[in-house]
Amino acid sequence: MAPTHSGTAESIPFFSQAATFEQLWPSIENALGDVFDSGKFSHGKQVGQLETELAHYTGARHVIGVNSGTDALVLLLRACGLRPGDGVLVPAYSFFATASAVVLAGGRPQFVDIDPHSYAMDPEALDAAVTPRSRFVMPVHLFHTMADMAAVDAVARRHGLTVVEDSAEAIGMRRRGVHAGLHGRGGVLSFFPSKTLGAIGDAGAVLTDDPRIAHTVAALRHHGRGGRTLNDFTAISTESALPGANSKMDDIQAAVLLAKLPLLEEHIARRAELAAAYTARLRDLPGVLRLPRAVPRTPEDRDVHYVYLIETEHRDALAGHLAGQSIGTEVYYPLPLPHQPVFGHLGHRPGEFPHAEAAARRALALPFHPDLRPGDLDRVRDAIGSFLATTRTTA
Ligand SMILES: *Cc1c(COP(=O)(O)O)cnc(C)c1O
Repeated sequence: MAPTHSGTAESIPFFSQAATFEQLWPSIENALGDVFDSGKFSHGKQVGQLETELAHYTGARHVIGVNSGTDALVLLLRACGLRPGDGVLVPAYSFFATASAVVLAGGRPQFVDIDPHSYAMDPEALDAAVTPRSRFVMPVHLFHTMADMAAVDAVARRHGLTVVEDSAEAIGMRRRGVHAGLHGRGGVLSFFPSKTLGAIGDAGAVLTDDPRIAHTVAALRHHGRGGRTLNDFTAISTESALPGANSKMDDIQAAVLLAKLPLLEEHIARRAELAAAYTARLRDLPGVLRLPRAVPRTPEDRDVHYVYLIETEHRDALAGHLAGQSIGTEVYYPLPLPHQPVFGHLGHRPGEFPHAEAAARRALALPFHPDLRPGDLDRVRDAIGSFLATTRTTA
């Protein structure tokens, strides 16, 4: 669609990868053609290839493709030896799957308030939340930065907790040169379409340096059946040693991800540019708006903007105002995890997790994807500016 220079403005969607797919279409078409030619749509060549490429990209010794980030968390927790009723410390503010994966694996979530700047688990609150039941801690890396893994690790050592990471949003993020997901026993990636590396449906992966965990996850994704080697699906046993799931990755998803992976670093650089361009435009607007903190950019420590999140006390009104100007936004995440109906029996009260509750009330994600153009950011800034001007005069 051509940009309109007069009349009503085009909508700015919250998320789009149309331009990316247009650019990549020849290679995606080729890759999909290979899958169709092979006639193997499940556990074929592409999944094994993607696992090898992702191991190279992340530095993980083992990558096991599965059918979603959520399943990756469940299978990782099971493979790490979670026993029924084990306490798993998780942040009170995250995507629902962080907590549901714990329950699906047989554990009990134990909620921890967040640090308001990183949106990740606060290490001091973590220390205070440990109980005799606690056996795991699962920090989450949200939006644009990682949890303070050195501090989480110190608490985990003091209490003998196993560390696993919900790094579903964190592809490309590193601390001290180590990719997200590889700071404890293992981590995960999600390839849900809107994630930094998105498929055309659901897909996920487990990352680990531990061969025992890797082999257990590989068996758990396929009815508890192991193959001769991890990435070889040609000689899978017909005997099940574990009550495994059916959580295989589709080769069609793997083929799309293989075609997109070579562009990932370019897209991450583009995301950094876009985030800086937003901050430059929003920084000086009159009115109260909290912007993401500057992120480290040394080769050893790298953050990646998965979303661009602002905070304001007038979040819902601002979202409505932007929607009125055809600008898409999303609320990440409107209800703190301890307040989800499914956890009602745990009896958590409002006020217990003040930073998680403030983020749930105030945070708004702006349109953010590699397809955005500078003119789009100007329009978002102008729309936010006009909103802030009216809330100031009516406040
Ligand atoms: C996306 C996401 C998941 C789940 O991944 P799916 O692939 O959608 O199952 C888990 N945790 C976090 C923090 C996520 O953002």
